[in-house]
Order: sequence, then C-alpha cells, then structure tokens
Amino acid sequence: MEADLITVEEALSRIGQNVSLLAPKLMSIDDASGLVLAEDLRSKINMPPFRQSAMDGYAVRFEDKGVEYLELIGEVAAGVDASSTQLKQGQAVRIFTGAMVPDSADTVIRQEDVVQLNSRIKIDIWPKRGANIRPEAEQTSKGEIIAKSGDVLNPARLSYVAGMGVSKLWCYPKANIAVVITGSELQKNTEDLRPGCIYESNSYAIIGSVKNIDNQYLKVFYLNDELKYSIEVFKTQLDEYDCVIFSGGISVGDYDFVAQILDDKSVEKVFYKVKQKPGKPLFFGKRDQQYIFALPGNPAAALTCMYVYVNPAIRKMMGWSEFYTDTINLSLKETIELNGGRSQFLKAKQDGGSVDVLEYQSSAMLKSFAEADCLVYLNGEKACYQKGEIVKCYKL
Ligand code: AMP
Ligand code: MG
Repeated sequence: MEADLITVEEALSRIGQNVSLLAPKLMSIDDASGLVLAEDLRSKINMPPFRQSAMDGYAVRFEDKGVEYLELIGEVAAGVDASSTQLKQGQAVRIFTGAMVPDSADTVIRQEDVVQLNSRIKIDIWPKRGANIRPEAEQTSKGEIIAKSGDVLNPARLSYVAGMGVSKLWCYPKANIAVVITGSELQKNTEDLRPGCIYESNSYAIIGSVKNIDNQYLKVFYLNDELKYSIEVFKTQLDEYDCVIFSGGISVGDYDFVAQILDDKSVEKVFYKVKQKPGKPLFFGKRDQQYIFALPGNPAAALTCMYVYVNPAIRKMMGWSEFYTDTINLSLKETIELNGGRSQFLKAKQDGGSVDVLEYQSSAMLKSFAEADCLVYLNGEKACYQKGEIVKCYKL
C-alpha cells in the first residue's frame, strides 16, 4: 500500500509542473500592491521632470559670487511654474525643496548659509556651481524600463512606478479561492457544543495561511458528510474559482465523500496520497483552469499541507518565480527517532542556528503548531536523526 504513495519531493515537483499562471489583467495601480507584474513598464516622464531644488534656500547665478548683496526678486514654492522667472545680474529668488529652479539660476544656496535683510540677501558660504539642484532626469529618463515582467510590486516598487506616472498595469491577479469545509460533526464556535460535535477550526488555519500570501478573494462553503448534496455543490457552485481547497473527508472512512466527489470525469488527478506524516491522504487535481486540493481534516495535517503544497501553488498562479515555501537549514537539538519510513514534518522552534522539536506532534493537535515557527523536515530515508545533524526546516 505504502508503495503507491509518492514522495514529498515528487508531489512538490508535480505542483510546479502542473500549476500555470493566472491570465494577466489590466489593473489600476490602486489594486496592484503585492501583485506580480506581467509586462515591462516604461517611465512616462523624466524624473525629476524639471530642475528641482534639493534644499530650502535661494536660487542664484554662480557668476554673481563675490557680489556682497544680491537683490531678492521673489519666491518659488513647490508646485509653481517658474519657467518665466528671469534672474538678471545680481538677483536671487527664495526657493523651497522640490520647487522648479528658474532657467537663469544655476546654484541653490542653503538658507542656513544666507542672511536675509528685507529684499536683499548676503551669502556667507558659496557652495560649488550647480550645488543643491537635482538635474532633470537625474533618476529616470522618459521611456526607460522601470520594472520588468515577473517583478513583485512591493511597496518601494509600487511607489517608484506610481511616481513615474504609471496608473494602469498588467499584473497576475489574486486567485479566487473556495474553501470547502466538510464534516457533520463541526459546529460554529458561537454555539454551545452538542454531544459528539467539535468546533470547526480548519477554516481559520486555511484562510489565515492563504491571507499571509496576500489578501486573496475567498469564499467558504460548509458541507455535511452527505454525498448527493456535496456533489451538487461541486458541480454547480465552485466553477468560478481558480482554486478549491477541501478540508476533511478525503480519507478512507465510510463518510469520507470528497474522494468520491473528485472521482469525476471532469477532474484530472495529479496525485493522491503522499508518503508523509502528517497529511498522507492529500489530493491534488485539475478541472479545466481550476486547481483542486483536498486536505485531510486533522488540523495539523491540513495546515502542514497548506504551508508545504497549497501556498506554493497559489504563489505560482500569482506569477511568483520563487513560489516554494522558504526553508532554512538548522541543527537538531535532540536526536529524533522515526518509525514508519514516511517523511515527517515536525512542529519546531528555531533557537539561533539550532532547532527544538516540540512535544505534541499528533496530526489531530494544534497545540505545538501554535507555538512553532518552523517545521523540521525529515525525509524518512533513515530511522534516526542525530543531535547536531543539519536538517531542512520550512519557515512558517
Ligand atoms: P476527516 O479527514 O474528515 O476524517 O477528519 C479527520 C479529523 O479531523 C476528525 O477528527 C475531524 O473531526 C477533524 N476535523 C475535520 N475537519 C475539521 C475542521 N474543519 N475543524 C476541526 N477539526 C476537523
Ligand atoms: Mg470528516
């Protein structure tokens, strides 16, 4: 039986091979934060678009150096068109940071180096010719490429391209995601618990981990373990989503209907069951342009599969070139013995360059997951991993 299972590495590589990028959309820059660009962007303007004062001070003609008093003929504030302001010999204008330097001025004197006496100024310290002026196009020229397809629109890049006049841009959109929570025993945590029931909690883990990637569009469905209705929902209500994530019902129990729902002609299975603990009965498949994951219901298994498999798939859909979950190599603080020969993901906490594997590793428990900041990955090729051994850890 275990021989049918695929390895973690194979499952991850099938995700990389099978998930395609979502179709790019022309978006307003107001909606593009955190998205990945799907085109090369060019600047619409020179930046700065005109010669700009870099200081609060006085714009002068450097050739007047040596003249004791300069005549102050006015001021140029930020946002004012100074193209008609003309400085003649011996004249200066008051100027402020970001303001347009008149063509006839070639130097700005810091106000700290000037004494103003009514309509005259006396310059104590002359800087070099051209000082305190940002030349036109100093940073960027009109037409220059300012961001490339595949770049993530992080706060700095988004702000940079906005400053170059970009207002609309082609991006890979956020994924539309349906989360389908199955289980007749599950109750909302606003109700009193009925005998035999538990509070539904996987939706919080799944939504929270997806939202860590970005504020995706999410809708949650709740299904009892009832095959006919579940099939109807699958066939009629889930079409419009880029990704459907089922929770529970994928195991081998009499009421585990998700495997039967997904055993549909329209669904192409990419894998079902991975040689891992927790999360063995993980399903991944495709239906038209849609990706379907079915996670085991045990809370720690569901969340482990989110971090290791589902989130990378979503990042890939959204155009990320580095979509797998980040890992770090750390040394084991204690020797770990495994049984079963499956790969294991163990809830753990980093401590400098080492890692502490926590108590309470059962897939039914979240107690240790709530404390963990990484998952130690042991590939299961051997039964004992020694204290001090370097192991791969998935960052949470
Ligand atoms: P299943 O995979 O549906 O057989 O569920 C395995 C275990 O996880 C059972 O003990 C379920 O009660 C529990 N479980 C399933 N779904 C959830 C959920 N959404 N929230 C909390 N526990 C769950
Ligand atoms: Mg169930």
